[in-house]
Amino acid sequence: MKNFLSEKAKNIAPYAAGEQPKDKKYVKLNTNENPYPPSPKALEAYKNFDFSSLNLYPAPDADALRAAVAEAEGVLPENVFCGNGSDEILALCLPAFFDEGGEGAAFADITYSFYPVFCNFFGVKYTLLPLEADFSLDLDKLSAMPAQGLIVANPNAPTGIGIPLAEIERFVRENSGRVVIIDEAYMPFFNESAVPLIKKYKNLLVVKTFSKGYSLAGMRCGYAVGDVSLIEGLFRCKDCFNSYPLDRVCQAVCAAAISDGAYYAEKNALVISERERLTEALRGRGFEVLPSKSNFVFARHGRLAGKEVYEGLRARGVLVRHFQKPRIENFCRITIGSRVQNDALLKALDEML
Ligand code: PMP
Repeated sequence: MKNFLSEKAKNIAPYAAGEQPKDKKYVKLNTNENPYPPSPKALEAYKNFDFSSLNLYPAPDADALRAAVAEAEGVLPENVFCGNGSDEILALCLPAFFDEGGEGAAFADITYSFYPVFCNFFGVKYTLLPLEADFSLDLDKLSAMPAQGLIVANPNAPTGIGIPLAEIERFVRENSGRVVIIDEAYMPFFNESAVPLIKKYKNLLVVKTFSKGYSLAGMRCGYAVGDVSLIEGLFRCKDCFNSYPLDRVCQAVCAAAISDGAYYAEKNALVISERERLTEALRGRGFEVLPSKSNFVFARHGRLAGKEVYEGLRARGVLVRHFQKPRIENFCRITIGSRVQNDALLKALDEML
């Protein structure tokens, strides 16, 4: 039979998201979701939503949501772009800031594995900087790389390691001649956001999400903050692809969520304290745990291979993420759950060990 796919669709290697199993109910610690529910204000916005308005298209540029984000972030609405998950925004960054056949992008060898997928999809070359032996990122080495723009996840995934704001500022300043994208998906668990720097540095774009720190992974919404010229580039590309990426319900719920900072500060502090408890508990069980500033830990056992840990836990009803990749094949990435979920993980590990 004739294969109707384009060469690109036939040959591209898509991103592999964490599994969403249906065979049984797991303690699900594999996709870095927040264990707590969305804020009561967000739930109220959902309940009060006028569903009869769904015959009409949503606001194409999500103006009310952008205003709410701007207020929470201390910037102006024109400095904000909203997208269908931060994944969509990161994807739009490729055509917006990188030329096909140009110098391309540079980022770490061990970081969010969607970056190379986006680059390949949009025909943008990329160069990888190997992380150091301790899995830290040497920003000076990244600055020395030829590229049209640089991408850094802070905190990084899947390592969880965070870079202090002062170092990020120096990096942004030293690369003032090219775009620097800081992916802050996990910043609610580190609190060193580079957003305040956007007023000083026109080359800086900070990308954030409602999925982790706002307990709204199911809503699919993210945002970027940066100079108006960068934001305009994202709008130009969005309007070549999808005029209405965020539905009406999503815009209303996310605007309510971001106005309830106090609720999320409290819940995310609980995640942080569980992270510290889990780190110590894992170290006590023979794991090396990288110092995490995110809502997951990246850990390897002294005796058991990463795959054995993953499979042993899965057999006991606990799902974590394992990457079959050079340098990190002996690690598992474990999302910080509620206290009950984390205790279930530790119990399963005790049985295994
Ligand atoms: N950046 C990083 C580093 C991530 O781990 C993720 C989540 N997989 C995202 C961005 C995308 O998150 P979302 O599309 O849910 O906003």
